[in-house]
This record gives sequence, structure tokens and C-alpha cells, in this order.
Amino acid sequence: MSKVQGYAALNAKSPLTFFEFERRALRPHDVKIDILYCGVCHSDLHKVRNEWKNTMYPVVPGHEIVGRIVDLGPQTSLFKIGELVAVGCLVDACRLCTSCLEGLEQYCEKQSIFTYDSIDPVDRSATRGGYSSQIIVDEKFTLKIPTAFKEKDLPAVAPLLCAGITTYSPLRHWHVGKNSRVGVVGLGGLGHMAVQLACAMGAEVAVFTSSKNKVQDAKKLGAHHVVLSSEKKEMELFIDSLDFIINTVSATHSLDHFIQLLKRNGTMCMVGLPESCYPSFDTAQLIFRRKSLAGSLIGGIRETQEMLEFCAQHHILPEIEIIAIQKINEAFERMLKNDVKYRFVIDMASLHSKKPI
Ligand code: NAP
Ligand code: ZN
Ligand code: ZN
Repeated sequence: MSKVQGYAALNAKSPLTFFEFERRALRPHDVKIDILYCGVCHSDLHKVRNEWKNTMYPVVPGHEIVGRIVDLGPQTSLFKIGELVAVGCLVDACRLCTSCLEGLEQYCEKQSIFTYDSIDPVDRSATRGGYSSQIIVDEKFTLKIPTAFKEKDLPAVAPLLCAGITTYSPLRHWHVGKNSRVGVVGLGGLGHMAVQLACAMGAEVAVFTSSKNKVQDAKKLGAHHVVLSSEKKEMELFIDSLDFIINTVSATHSLDHFIQLLKRNGTMCMVGLPESCYPSFDTAQLIFRRKSLAGSLIGGIRETQEMLEFCAQHHILPEIEIIAIQKINEAFERMLKNDVKYRFVIDMASLHSKKPI
């Protein structure tokens, strides 16, 4: 066992606070990683505040992790000490069910083990995430950082591990490509990755935002069209025009406004997972144009590696603001006020720093 430091939420109401805990001793296939950077996902906030009603406290969030290997279990073969690596939302799964065998560990039929707030199947301890100094992970759930990414890119690589894969996976699953017209609803951490990825896949992309001040940014990210979702007239121009919509909004809203934008046979895939249920939608809209409403959860390990290579090849990285871990509670508040462009990333060196970063 080794002692590590991090930040944890002790309950749903208090701010995150400094927290010391133990990481397991290295198992034969484990790698030990010194965490350099960790992205701040809106799911961290949902979890910390128990908005999904299943948080086990204390919880150490963080599933967008970039770090360096500092130790290896005796039976590892995939990594070397000193190598830069990444860890995303998953740290284990049964590895034997149909989903696992297809590389879809996030849909493991027995149990996906998430990077934090899951129970480790071997020792029944709680998994703890990347808002911490070190993590120990099975090498099969550790990702390689493509060499095309340089040292200076590392903070921005971190958000690819959730925001990147969560948007890449459905875009691939629904075959987004050269002839697709794609809508991205919500320009936050996930949304701004979806725009870049869909553009790189060759799609024509329309962003639907509730924030006037994001219109220029959406264009800079490559969007061909940007629509203020509160403007009825602008929205009407897109009725029956989109093949696929990825909805990344972190709060409930009327889905009808967006379902009407799909063409016949179009699909809207929900990735946003707000605290409460959505208001009911108009089923007739689906039936009369054979439209689908769908959902998607992160992505498996194989696809996450593929996404990292895709981003390296297409020079895709998120827009980030680096923060010290001491600023995490402020960052959560700013995320709620929609005041983040477009992902906070914690510089983990701040954990031991006497001076604020
Ligand atoms: P984020 O950075 O906070 O972005 C959410 C965006 O939603 C905001 O930028 C805003 O975009 C829009 N929004 C927020 N509140 C709104 C409101 N009241 N009305 C209308 N629009 C609103 O969050 P994120 O990290 O991208 O995560 C987004 C959601 O995806 C969260 O619910 C998160 O838990 C979930 N998630 C799911 C998965 C999965 O596997 N399915 C993985 C990761 C995250 P505009 O300003 O452009 O309107
Ligand atoms: Zn996430
Ligand atoms: Zn499985």
C-alpha cells in the first residue's frame, strides 16, 4: 500500500478538501502512475453533489488523467518506467462478457469498474480518481499517448480521455462522415470536442448553443453554422435537415426543439446526463419520420486509443484553462455558471506547491 494525497468530497454539501488515502500495492499487471494533469468533467460535479443519487463518500473525482509511469508490476509487458500514459473513465471490467470481448468494456454485462466511485472487484475498496498525486491501474486499462503529442500538449490531452471519447464514440457508431449533416447541442467540454471531431470526419456541422458569447468560438472550432437555440426563426431554418445530433447539455430541456431538426431516419444521441429526468417528448415526431432518440456512454479502451491517434493525426485538442487544485471548488461554481472555455485542467504539481500556480 502507498499513501497518496488528493482532493475529495466528504459529502454532497461541503467543498472538496485535501484528503490523504492509500493506493493498493502493485498487482502483477499493474502500473503506478504519477499524475501530471487531470481534466474537470461535468460528471465530476454531478457525482460530487450526489446528483445521480449513488455517490459513495468520500469520493476522489477525476477521469481525464495524464501522467508518467513510475513503477511496474512483475508481469507487465506493455509499458516502461518513465513513459507518458493516460487513464480515462474505466479501470476494469469482467473482460469475458460479449461486450468486453467486443472492446466495449463500458457496457460490461457484469460490471464496469469506473476510475472513481466504483468498487474494486479484488479487494472491495472504493476506486479513487485523478484529483490525486498517483494512481495504480491494470496495464490493459492504461492508454498510450501518441508520440505526435508534444510535452506542451499534455495538459490538453487530458480531456480527450472523457470529453474526447464520449463524443468520438457515437460519431463513429452512427457513421458520421463526408456526407453527414451533424448538429451539436451545447458548446461545453464535450460539445467543443464534438465539433472538432465531426469536422475532422468530414461532416457539415451546426452548433446549437444557449450562449450568445460562444458563437464566434464555435466558428473558430470549425462549425459551419451556429444557431442560438433560443431564436425560434434561426432554429426553424434547420428543421428536417440533420442526419445526426449529439446532445451534450448538462441540464434538462425540451427535446422536441431538437428532434424536429432531424431528417427522416435521423438520430439524436444523448450524452448529457442531468440530475433529473427530461420532460416527455412528442413521440409522433419520431414515428412520422422514423427518427431515433438514443444514448451513448463514454467508449471502450480500444476505441479510446483509436480516438487518441485520430486526435494526434488531425491536430485536435481541447481549449483549456489550467488551474491549481486549490481552485477546484471555484472551478465547479464557474462550470455551473457556464463560465469555462472549454475545459478546466488541474495541474497536479499544485498539490504539493506552497505557492499558488
Ligand atoms: P459542460 O462543460 O458544463 O457543458 C455543458 C453545456 O451544456 C454548457 O456549456 C452549455 O452549453 C449547456 N448548458 C448547461 N446548462 C444549460 C441549461 N440550463 N440550458 C441549456 N444549456 C445548458 O459539461 P460537459 O463536461 O461537457 O458534460 C456535459 C454533460 O455530459 C454532463 O451532464 C456530463 O455528466 C455528461 N457526460 C456524459 C458522458 C457519457 O458517457 N454519456 C461522459 C461525460 C460527460 P451552451 O452554453 O452552448 O448552451
Ligand atoms: Zn467525464
Ligand atoms: Zn464484461
